[in-house]
Amino acid sequence: MPRLVMKFGGTSVADLARIRGAAEKVRREVERGYDVAVVVSAMAGKTNELVAWVRDTHTLYDAREYDAVVASGENVTAGLMALTLQEMGVPARSWQGWQVPLRTNSAHGAARIESIETGRLIQKFGEGLHAVIAGFQGISPEGRVTTLGRGGSDTSAVAFAAALEAERCDIYTDVDGVYTTDPRITKKAKKLARVSYEEMLELAGAGAKVLQTRSVELAMRYKVPLQVLSSFSDEPGTLVCEEEEIMESRVVSGIAFARDEAQVTVSGVQDRPGIAAGIFGPLSEAGVNVDMIVQNVSAEGVTDMTFTVPADDIPRATRALEAARESAGLGFARIETNDNVAKVSIVGVGMRSHSGVAHRMFAALAAEGVNIKAITTSEIKVSVLIDRKYLELAVQALHDAFELDKAS
Ligand code: ADP
Ligand code: ASP
Ligand code: MG
Repeated sequence: MPRLVMKFGGTSVADLARIRGAAEKVRREVERGYDVAVVVSAMAGKTNELVAWVRDTHTLYDAREYDAVVASGENVTAGLMALTLQEMGVPARSWQGWQVPLRTNSAHGAARIESIETGRLIQKFGEGLHAVIAGFQGISPEGRVTTLGRGGSDTSAVAFAAALEAERCDIYTDVDGVYTTDPRITKKAKKLARVSYEEMLELAGAGAKVLQTRSVELAMRYKVPLQVLSSFSDEPGTLVCEEEEIMESRVVSGIAFARDEAQVTVSGVQDRPGIAAGIFGPLSEAGVNVDMIVQNVSAEGVTDMTFTVPADDIPRATRALEAARESAGLGFARIETNDNVAKVSIVGVGMRSHSGVAHRMFAALAAEGVNIKAITTSEIKVSVLIDRKYLELAVQALHDAFELDKAS
């Protein structure tokens, strides 16, 4: 029988009534003749609560125990979903990550999937038993529970779809598709009928949390047809697919933003060869993810280096730089940090063939008096760093400038 993966996010399984609603959607697909693997998230807010409990125990907590705690949210919903399906007459069994097993590396808190053994699931499908899988979790080579990073149930779902050679991976969430921008920011946001893997990858990477970035990477690599749709309606969703399958030509398809960026400025650094390596080497060793980088014009042999990191990484970044200042002779004058910034990005495959897109973006921001602190570009994306207080204004201005309310 053809196989289908159906993933339900936190708000879609927030309580028993919603779990019943989700199970109803599963039953419909079972009746259509699919062997279904349901992947579930923790109930809305649960993972945040678990993370906060862990952080309250110690600032430098043991990542293995963090995973042991935060993975538990998904275990509860997997069991409840299996029970609900059984109650509806759909034979189902729950599976935690280690039971499948879904194997990952040992990077606790942000583990990467290495393999999925599907033999037992497939055998159970043969016995008429559908699977309910706890998303977000796996097992390390050491036999410990791991988690895949926030939003990781999307990645579990796509990985199962690839491993099970499913016909499709349906991601059910609290919006009915991928929009031109987060519909919470502007009512003018329009649902896209289709979006290419590449654009979705850039949108997710730039902060559109509707799909975890890694899930899009996997879908693209294994050519998994991915659909984003609503748990609460029967509206058609958005298909994430190959670029060739999209007829309309759009210069810009969407706008994404990240509020949790922070800017770090290292001032008074000697402007000599090797200084950038001297700064970014220790940061990379400390596992700090550096995004945008700007080096200011040098005056009298000294310069400033400004870059962005996730706001949570500020303590680690400053610690690594202070340590290198002593040990590696990184003679800088001081470090300043600013977490009142945000990154806004426009994404579209049309940028490859249209010039002037970046200019249009900068002009639209200038017209609103929004100052740009840093810029980065890729082939299909332009990102700017701005003061966080202008985020909504900037997104709306760009949405208008690129006429995204006319998108489809
Ligand atoms: P789930 O719990 O189902 O995984 P998430 O909260 O992780 O749901 O993702 C869904 C949310 O993503 C939406 O509620 C919306 O606010 C946000 N979002 C951000 N950008 C977009 C976008 N371009 N299109 C749709 N939703 C978006
Ligand atoms: N429950 C996890 C989180 O909130 C994983 C997920 O929902 O995708 O990050
Ligand atoms: Mg999510």
